[in-house]
Amino acid sequence: MKGIYLDYASTTPLDGEVLEAMTPYLTSEFGNADSLHSFGRKTMSAIDKARDMLAEDLGVSPSEIYFTSGGTESDNWAIFGLARAQKEVGKTHVVVSSIEHHAVLSAVEELEREGFSVTYVDPNKRGMVEPNAFLEAIRQDTGLVAVMHANNETGVLQPVEEIAKLTKEKGIVFFSDCVQSAPYVALKPREMGVDALSISAHKFYGPKGIGALYVKKGVKIKNLHFGGEQERGKRGGTLPTASIVGLAHAYRKSCLHREVNNQAIASARLAFEKVLLGSGLQVTVNGEGNKIPSVLNVQLYGVHNTSFLSKMDLEGVALSAGAACASASLKPSETLLSMGLTEAEASESVRFSFGKHTTVLEAEEAARIAVRVIKGFGDEA
Ligand code: PLP
Repeated sequence: MKGIYLDYASTTPLDGEVLEAMTPYLTSEFGNADSLHSFGRKTMSAIDKARDMLAEDLGVSPSEIYFTSGGTESDNWAIFGLARAQKEVGKTHVVVSSIEHHAVLSAVEELEREGFSVTYVDPNKRGMVEPNAFLEAIRQDTGLVAVMHANNETGVLQPVEEIAKLTKEKGIVFFSDCVQSAPYVALKPREMGVDALSISAHKFYGPKGIGALYVKKGVKIKNLHFGGEQERGKRGGTLPTASIVGLAHAYRKSCLHREVNNQAIASARLAFEKVLLGSGLQVTVNGEGNKIPSVLNVQLYGVHNTSFLSKMDLEGVALSAGAACASASLKPSETLLSMGLTEAEASESVRFSFGKHTTVLEAEEAARIAVRVIKGFGDEA
């Protein structure tokens, strides 16, 4: 496809080698992994191998990994499954950051309708939540705390390890949505101190519709799906062999090339920033501090983001205002509002996100186009 793609935080293209690893399981090796005959045994052995690969990369046991249909399911399962298990021991209070993805926020809203109480912790104006704010929010009946690793709109990394330490001291279960950080930061759940963690393959050049949930051994989680005995009876449904193989290969590849990719992505982003921020136009970067290299969220003064996005699209540059799944709603970003931006400031904000295929030349070209489009808004006014 022609054009410049700057929406890698929404999704990434499938890697050619990953497709190659998946292809036999989309064609000749089609057996149901739970069938006892040779066709089934062959696919089950591919799934076992994929689970071992992912477990090795995460530094966990294969029995702590569950395959799901993606980040949304992993997040939903963690929130409902962990909170409902805590309810059985009388803990019905949940604490989450207010900048979580909707896969977490909508799930906790549903928990509230079920009778749980939820405390939302806002970030500081740099886009990072403060561990102390969690300490203040925790109560006697807190059973679950959830904080994402990298925010999908600003790219800001959250102090997950510090918050995990606090919750551990108090015997509270801690979950982290690592869907956005997965390609950029080496995820080691044991070192991070998390009890559960989610990832999604399409964010790291794997197929869409496949994710994983890590649940530490001994941590209680209720089922979200009921059906067959797949995934040790925790998640029924015929296993999508090709997708599982694709996820494990994509994750392995992203681990092997992480440093090189991160550097290339940062170079492309910096080249873009140099042109845009050096243009003399009034622009503010939203979110500061420790960030993943791929995301640049900026407020473009005097430019409404939805018309900017469509003008950029006409010019061949694809990008989003924020979360792709929320782009149909024209509401300003809740993440930016909770960082203290006004509604007007949030609706002037857009997210540029870079990937391993973005070249410096492309990034500079996209920034020049952005400058031209922004100047066009000034002319219209
Ligand atoms: N969590 C975060 C932080 C995300 O950015 C996304 C996707 O954008 C999701 C969860 C949902 O993942 P999926 O698209 O695999 O359902």
